[in-house]
Amino acid sequence: MLIETFIRKQLRLKAHTVTHVEETEESMVVHIDRLGRRLLRCGVCQQRCREVHSTRPEREWRDLAMRKLPLKLRYCPRRVDCPRCGVRVEDVPWAEPWARVTSALSNAVAVLARELSWQGTARQYGLNWKSVATIVKRAVEYGLRHRARPPVHIIGIDEVSRRKGQVYLTVVYDLERRVLLWVGDDRTEEAVKPFFTKEMGARRCHTLRVVCMDMWAPYAKLVREHATKAQILFDRFHIVKHLNEAVEEVRRSEMRRLSLKEKVVFKRSRWLLLKNPWNLTSDQKERLSTLVRWNSPIVRAYYLKEAFQLFWDYKQPQRAGHHLEKWMRSAMSSRLEPFKKFVRMLRSHLDGILSWTKQRVSNGAVEGMNNKIKSISHRSFGFRSAENFIAAIYHCCARLPLPVEL
Ligand SMILES: [Zn+2]
Repeated sequence: MLIETFIRKQLRLKAHTVTHVEETEESMVVHIDRLGRRLLRCGVCQQRCREVHSTRPEREWRDLAMRKLPLKLRYCPRRVDCPRCGVRVEDVPWAEPWARVTSALSNAVAVLARELSWQGTARQYGLNWKSVATIVKRAVEYGLRHRARPPVHIIGIDEVSRRKGQVYLTVVYDLERRVLLWVGDDRTEEAVKPFFTKEMGARRCHTLRVVCMDMWAPYAKLVREHATKAQILFDRFHIVKHLNEAVEEVRRSEMRRLSLKEKVVFKRSRWLLLKNPWNLTSDQKERLSTLVRWNSPIVRAYYLKEAFQLFWDYKQPQRAGHHLEKWMRSAMSSRLEPFKKFVRMLRSHLDGILSWTKQRVSNGAVEGMNNKIKSISHRSFGFRSAENFIAAIYHCCARLPLPVEL
C-alpha cells in the first residue's frame, strides 16, 4: 500500500485526498487537496455546501509522529457558501476548527497529560508547554459540557492551597462516586456560591443529603441557604487536625518553660503524643510512661486527645452526645488554653459534629484525590495562574469524557 493511501485511510478522508508525502530531514509533510468536486462541509454547522467561495492560504497541522518523524499535514482550506451561515471556512475532518494539531494528536496529548506534567507531555510530543495547556483546557471545556450529571447525595467540600498556603481553592467531591465535581478559585462565599447556583442549580441541590466539610463559616452558610435539606457534617479528619494542633500548642509552650534536663525526656515527644498508642515501639512506650508519671500539661493534653477519639466509635447519637459533653467539661477544667479554644469551636458547631453517628462519612474517602491535587501543584511550575491549575485538577480528578475522535 502506498503511504499516501495509508494516511488517507488513517485520516478517514472522504472529500479530501493525499496528493503526495514529502520526506525531509526532520519531518514528513503530507500534502492534502480537495477530492474532485465532492461536497465540503460548513465549519460552523457541518452542513454540506454546494458552493465553494474561495481558497484560503495553506495551513499546517501537527499530527502524531510517524515512527520518530514528526508528521505535518498541509492544506489550503476552502471557504464555502453555507445556506445557513453564509461564507465560512470549511470543516476539516482531521482537526477542530481552532486547532493547529490534529484531533488524533490532541487526544493523545490529553490522555498523557492526565499522568504527566504539562512540561513532560510537551516534551514527549515535541510541542511547547502552551500548546499542551490549550489542548488540556479545550478537553476540559468539552468534558464539562458533555459529562453525565447524575443526582448527587453526599458531597465533601474541602480546600487546597496553592503557593504554599497563600492562595486557596475550594474543591467539591461526590463522596459516593469519589469523583471531583467542581473547583472554585477561592474559599470565600462569593467564590463558592456558583457551585450551588450554577453547577448544581436549585433542583439538583434538593437531592443533597449530607455535606461534609471543615468548620469554615462561608461553606456552612452556603449549605444552609442553598441546600436546605442537607445535613452539615463537620469532617472527622479536620476535627482531629484541630485537636492535634491543640496538643502541639500545649507541647510547644511547655517546652519553652522546661529546664534543660527535663527537656531531654520530652525531646521529639511530638510524634509520641500524636501517634496512636498501638503503633508505638517499646522504647517509645517507656518514654511515654515516664511522661505520664510527671502528670505535666503535656500528658494531660495527651489523655484528653485520646479520650476525645472514643467519640468516633459511638453508634448511638445520645451516647455520643453524652460522651462529648463530658469530654468538653473536663477539657474546660484542664487549664489548657488551646483545649478551651478547641471546645469553644466544638460548641459552636455541635450539630454538625454529632451528625457523625448517623452519617459516618468523611472526606478521608477522597484523600487520595487531595494528594493527587498536591502532586499536580508540585510537579508543575506553570500553575502561577489559577486558571491553569484548575484545568489540570479537573483534567486529572473529574473523570471527564474526552472529545471523541472521528
Ligand atoms: Zn453552516
